[in-house]
Amino acid sequence: MSHPLPPSHRTPLGFQLRDAQTRDQLVLQVCQQCETVQYPPRNVCVNCLDNDLNWQPVSAEGKVLASNQLHSSVEEYYQEGIPFELASVKLNAGPVVLACNSIDATAGDQVRVLGEQDEHGNLLLRALKP
Ligand SMILES: [Zn+2]
Repeated sequence: MSHPLPPSHRTPLGFQLRDAQTRDQLVLQVCQQCETVQYPPRNVCVNCLDNDLNWQPVSAEGKVLASNQLHSSVEEYYQEGIPFELASVKLNAGPVVLACNSIDATAGDQVRVLGEQDEHGNLLLRALKP
């Protein structure tokens, strides 16, 4: 029996987001015109529509807005790992990200968010203890 593979289709910006991450820094797009930090990545700034966006390290600190368990997925690959613990995190840098929550963080907890690649090279954002 073969194991399902994770979805592999990503936009060019999705690959750039994955490749920009480092082991100990969260790297997101920063608008060079208005300094807005944005996630998910886009071709233009969500605030001023300028297209001068750089990948830069930003504060990885943030506060959990909500945590929950994902109990189903339309992707066969992810059905093996459910339930997934997830947390929405409001980064101090601005945007809200959805992160894997293996530390049982709940609303109001301070966390750090860093990116890592799974065994198939897909980016996972993970909530970590600060
Ligand atoms: Zn901007």
